[in-house]
Amino acid sequence: MENLLIKNVSVVPMTHADAVIQNGYIYIEKGVINALGSAPNHTLVEKADRVIDGEHLVAMPGLINGHTHTPMSVLRGYAGDLPLQQWLQEIWKIEAKMSSEDIYWAAMLSMVEMLKSGTTTFGDMYYGMDKVAEGVQASGMRALLTQGIIEQDGHGEDVLAECVDFVKRWHGKAEGRIQAILSPHAPYTCSPQLIEKLVEAAHDLDCSIHTHLNETRGKIDTIIERYGKRPIVLMDEIGLFSRHVIAAHGVHVSEEELEILARSQAGIIHNPKSNMKLGSGIAPIADMLERGIVVGLGTDGSASNNVLDMFEEMRFASFLQKVHLEDPTALSAYETLKLGTALGAQALGIESEIGTLEVGKKADLTLVNVDRTHALPLNDILSHLIYSAKADDVDYTIVNGRVLYEKGHVVTLDEEKIKWHVLESKNKLFGS
Ligand SMILES: [Zn+2]
Repeated sequence: MENLLIKNVSVVPMTHADAVIQNGYIYIEKGVINALGSAPNHTLVEKADRVIDGEHLVAMPGLINGHTHTPMSVLRGYAGDLPLQQWLQEIWKIEAKMSSEDIYWAAMLSMVEMLKSGTTTFGDMYYGMDKVAEGVQASGMRALLTQGIIEQDGHGEDVLAECVDFVKRWHGKAEGRIQAILSPHAPYTCSPQLIEKLVEAAHDLDCSIHTHLNETRGKIDTIIERYGKRPIVLMDEIGLFSRHVIAAHGVHVSEEELEILARSQAGIIHNPKSNMKLGSGIAPIADMLERGIVVGLGTDGSASNNVLDMFEEMRFASFLQKVHLEDPTALSAYETLKLGTALGAQALGIESEIGTLEVGKKADLTLVNVDRTHALPLNDILSHLIYSAKADDVDYTIVNGRVLYEKGHVVTLDEEKIKWHVLESKNKLFGS
C-alpha cells in the first residue's frame, strides 16, 4: 500500500463548519490519514510514494450513499411514472428473471457510476448479494451489504438462515471494507414474528439492521390496517430498535415515531429524488435534525432516481427542505454536506472509521476540481459543493488510501466490459 501525499489542496474536513484549510495537505499511510494541515514538512514529502498536486482541487470526505440497490441499474428507465405498489409489481416481474450474473454486472455498473461521482461508501440491499460482495472486493469500495428479506409462502425463516450465513461469510472481508448486516425489506413484506427472529439473530451476530420504513402513506395505512398501529411504533414494540437500525425514507412520521427515532439513534436515510419521483412525499429532515435524529442521504436504486449521483442528491435534499418550509435558511450547504459525509457515516454506524477527514480515520476522500466555469469565482467552497458542483467535477476518488478513480478512468474496474455485460443482461431481460 503506497504512502500518498496530496498537497496544495483545499481541505474540507467536515469536523465543523469553518474548518476549511486553504492550500493544505493530507498525508496518507497504510490507508489511514496520518497527518493533515497547512503545509507538509520535508519528512512527509520524502516518505510519500506518490504526490498528487491538489492545485484547483478540494478534498472532502468521500460521499456516502446510505441506501441503494446497486443491481437495479439494469432496470434504469423501466416502469417509470407509476405509483410505488404498481412500480414494485413491474420491477418484481423482471427481478424474478435476473440471474446472479445479471446482478453482478449491474452492481458493477453502479459501482463505476458511484466512483466516478465521488462516492466511496454505499449501503446496499438486494438479493443474491454474494455477487455484489465479490464486486465490492474487486472495486475497492467500502460497503454495508445486506440481503433484503421479502417473506413469501411461509419461507421467511429459511431465507433468514441464508441471510445469517451471508453475514458470517462476508462480514469484515475485503480488508475490512465490507460490513454484512441483516435486513427485513419492510414491515409490509415481513411478519412481526419474522422480524423478531431477525432481531435476535442481529444480537447474536452483533450487526446493524437495514430496512425501509414509512415510505408512502399507502404503505403506512397497510400496517395500520393489519396491526392497528403505525410502522415505527410497531417496530419499536417488537424490539427492532434494540439494535442499530438504518431506515430508508421516514417520509411520513408521527410525533410518537419521531420520538422513537430520536431516542433509539436510528439512522434515517433520506432519499429525496426517489421520494419525489415516486410521489411519496417530503421527509421532515430539517425537523428531524433539530430533534437530534441521525440523518444520512441515499439515492435509492437506479430505477427510482435514475442516477447514483450524490452531488445531485445533496442539492435536491437542500432545495426540497427550503421550498417545503418556505425558508432559505433550512438545510444550509454545510448541514447538507454533513448528511452526505459525517452524519451519513453515523447513520450507518461507521463514524469511528470514516465520514470526516481527521488523523486516524480511514483515508476515504473525494477530490473535486473547482477550475470550472460553473465554479468561478469560488467565493465559498461549501456553497459550491452543494449548489454548483457536478459529478463530472470529481477528479479522484480514494478509498482506504487507494486511488480507485482518476480523471475519467476507474483504476480497479474495466468499464467497457461492464457496460457490454449490462447491455447483454438488458437484452436478455427485456428483449433487444
Ligand atoms: Zn430502497
